[in-house]
Amino acid sequence: MSNEADKQQVHTLLPGSTIGILGGGQLGRMMANAGSAMGYRFIALDPVVDSPTGQVAEQIVAAYDDREAARELAKRSDVITYEFENVDADVAAMLMEESYVPQGSKLLHTTQHRLREKQAIEAAGVRVAPYREIRSVEELREAVAAFGTPCVLKTAMGGYDGKGQWVIRSAGEIEEAYETLSRAKVQLVLEQFIRFDKELSVIAARSPQGEIKAFPVAENIHVDNILHLSIVPARISAELQREAERLAMRIAEGLGVVGLIAVELFVTAEGELFVNELAPRPHNSGHYTMEACRTSQFEQHVRAVCNLPLGDTALLTPVVMVNVLGQHVEPLLELTSRQDEAAKRLKVAPKLHLYGKKEAVYKRKMGHVNVLAENIDAALSWIEETTIWKV
Ligand code: AMP
Repeated sequence: MSNEADKQQVHTLLPGSTIGILGGGQLGRMMANAGSAMGYRFIALDPVVDSPTGQVAEQIVAAYDDREAARELAKRSDVITYEFENVDADVAAMLMEESYVPQGSKLLHTTQHRLREKQAIEAAGVRVAPYREIRSVEELREAVAAFGTPCVLKTAMGGYDGKGQWVIRSAGEIEEAYETLSRAKVQLVLEQFIRFDKELSVIAARSPQGEIKAFPVAENIHVDNILHLSIVPARISAELQREAERLAMRIAEGLGVVGLIAVELFVTAEGELFVNELAPRPHNSGHYTMEACRTSQFEQHVRAVCNLPLGDTALLTPVVMVNVLGQHVEPLLELTSRQDEAAKRLKVAPKLHLYGKKEAVYKRKMGHVNVLAENIDAALSWIEETTIWKV
């Protein structure tokens, strides 16, 4: 048996073990907080000194593609996980050789590339928006004619928060869209525009032994392509909620996921579900689980990679998660320091989470608030009344 196969034999990591995280952002921080409470130790690799994760765990300060630093992370950890999907392929291969990486590198390879990802989702028997690979401006012209406008041109790799995409609203934009996105020097994909009624997400977890659990569906509202609200329960029928959860579990099974998989979906007015994209890690739209579910997405991820039985995902209370961007920090801290009359009147409990980032840059994700309430309307009213999120 090769060294790698030997290393990747499934085993159970009991509390007391050290979990190495590639990446030191807020997702790693919240993973380390949840796992520390269970008795695990954490070490993160991140280039930023005193990173969000580094503030609550040990940290190796180095670039993500620094092979020597990754080797040190492997040496000091019993198991390795990651908090972002754009892990360098060489580093992923080296970690597989030197350490135990129960999530493997195949899922990363799949989710790093939109075309591979769409093919894998379809192979699992789940629908995505109709798409075509685009290799030339002629192919783009043909595809736009076939799909009609609007349609969405995307880079197959490297895009996030709406970057690396262009909504083509008329045939006159084809050349410019092609030229602009081609600069990224990666494959392009054209998608039919889905006239969705709502955007949803479901986070599912799978353990190495194949146990699968899904969290309740979140209804997501974006502003300027950045997640603003996650509303749970999503305002869709119970049947559609079950269907979305089933799709996420089918993807977790079909792709052989270990750990978390976040599945972003569109739902049309007719109740049709299309998967938009996947993320093989904790997801911003799952932060609501921290207080609103029996088990948080972060604890669930730790359970899955350590091969423990998965936790109960039941929802304990209606909740709205609202993201705290740079411009929201000051007014929110001011609100935190006084009696919140609106919260009292509306009977909501806003739970603040901040990630320890130093510079409150405009639009930068600095934290989130989980607004626990008797119903969604009360939570939304609180967000509206604070006026903090008007900017
Ligand atoms: P993405 O980077 O793929 O998550 O896309 C960012 C946002 O663009 C999504 O949250 C949607 O609001 C919108 N979008 C992306 N693809 C499509 C599509 N095929 N049809 C309609 N809207 C889309």
